[in-house]
Amino acid sequence: MNNEDLFKKVVSHCKEYGFVFPSSEIYDGLAAVYDYGQNGVELRNNIRQYWWKSMTQLQTNILGIDAAIFMHPKTWKASGHIDGFSDPMIDNKDSKKRYRADVLLEDHQEKLRAKADKEVEKARARFGDSFDETMYRSTNPRVVEYLNAIAHIDNTLKEGLETGNLGMIKALIEELGIVCPVSGSKYWTDVRQFNLMYSTQMSAVESGEDSLYLRPETAQGIFVNFLNVQKSGRAKIPFGIAQTGKAFRNEIVARQFIMRMKEFEQMEMQFFCKPGTELEWYAYWKEQRLKWHLSLGVYAAKYRYHDHVKLAHYANAAVDIEFDFPFGFKEVEGIHSRTDFDLSKHEEFSGKKLRYFDPETNESYIPYVVETSIGLDRMFLLTLCASYTEDTVDGEVRTVLRIPPALAPVKAAILPLVKKDGLPEMAEKIYNDLRFDFKLYIEDKDSIGKRYRRMDAIGTPFCITVDHDSLINEDVTIRYRDTMEQRRVKISELRDILHRETDMSSLLQKLA
Ligand code: ATP
Repeated sequence: MNNEDLFKKVVSHCKEYGFVFPSSEIYDGLAAVYDYGQNGVELRNNIRQYWWKSMTQLQTNILGIDAAIFMHPKTWKASGHIDGFSDPMIDNKDSKKRYRADVLLEDHQEKLRAKADKEVEKARARFGDSFDETMYRSTNPRVVEYLNAIAHIDNTLKEGLETGNLGMIKALIEELGIVCPVSGSKYWTDVRQFNLMYSTQMSAVESGEDSLYLRPETAQGIFVNFLNVQKSGRAKIPFGIAQTGKAFRNEIVARQFIMRMKEFEQMEMQFFCKPGTELEWYAYWKEQRLKWHLSLGVYAAKYRYHDHVKLAHYANAAVDIEFDFPFGFKEVEGIHSRTDFDLSKHEEFSGKKLRYFDPETNESYIPYVVETSIGLDRMFLLTLCASYTEDTVDGEVRTVLRIPPALAPVKAAILPLVKKDGLPEMAEKIYNDLRFDFKLYIEDKDSIGKRYRRMDAIGTPFCITVDHDSLINEDVTIRYRDTMEQRRVKISELRDILHRETDMSSLLQKLA
């Protein structure tokens, strides 16, 4: 299966099996907005819970909060979002399509990079073992030309954005002869900045003065509560505050399904530490967060770090954890060393001191912050892309979601072999006994094979079949999703088996 096929299959599988639906579909949907179905909501809750527990249960010095989506409008002035949270947009006059100018340029760079790599690979094949790639990249005229063009784009884009000279960016797009992917034309509008925040009003009367914003990130709810949590939780630095919740961004270029949505959920943790120690904590969280991803059993090669070359003005280090999605390596999580920028700004705009008094040194200071920020929806998409497989069994294709059992929407299905002879009643008895501990499914319709396939397709790790022998021996067959191995076990053992195999504690132990 190639990547394009895989992605198409994941998207249609999501709809067919109740994971993700387009929002308000009966009205033809709403661009870049999605709803989660009966299986999607369970998987999403489980991912969120795994993150939440790994932060607030496993780490003794991380406390959780749940701040409101609406915040005082000054919050966004202080954080810089009102003035600076925008993307440079450009429209093609022929296709009327709107693009992010920086993305058009980055896509162009990607093409140049691919051309340079192709030259390098050709040379490697020609020179064999004696090939010196570093030397070749710095001396071959064609490769040097590509690499210089990439650097020229970086520098011009950076200068244009930093100085607000958007004309430079348009000129660069024209100079490079970039065409609209839809119309193929070079007939572009000027580049304009477009703020990504949605606004609404606090009161019923639209006065313009009481504009509220739907938060574009959850982090600010943590910053404004820093002292509340520190004091009421008697927290000593270093400590963290974690939060999960909805964020809203008016993403113009919405694409790739739930990868880039207008309404999405973030899971963020801000770690407050002593100034000067932030880079050590940054290194710690960078490693810790990758470990969290790898604990879910995905091949390490599917992940990579991408260090930011262009740092935001308030950051002194930043890295993305990227996953190899079917459409290429893309960010799932960012780890940023944000210095004391946010707390200082909130001090300035609120007039309230946001300092930590260190009882050991008797000094007060504004802590430095290391942030870990992951998109729940991207993690959901990652989980589906990584777990979707098709096996051929007896000449028939079996679609299996190899989701880690602790995250699976349903932990086990209880299936009477036939719909008679007291088997459904026995299945129901087992179901009623185990449902206090696990999310289960019970079904007696269709052949057992069809029922197995349906469970494989939603990633249910165990199918428990009740047959005639069960009535005599008080035992059942338990089938393992991934190996299709079947074992006979006593009904009295089921609870322990399912706990051992599906509890989140088994994942959490990998992090300790
Ligand atoms: P990108 O560069 O992809 O736009 P970003 O750098 O703006 O992402 P951050 O502001 O660092 O993203 O947000 C942290 C995380 O929130 C991202 O790593 C991503 O997982 C998630 N995220 C951001 N924007 C969206 C979106 N529009 N839809 C879904 N998830 C998002």
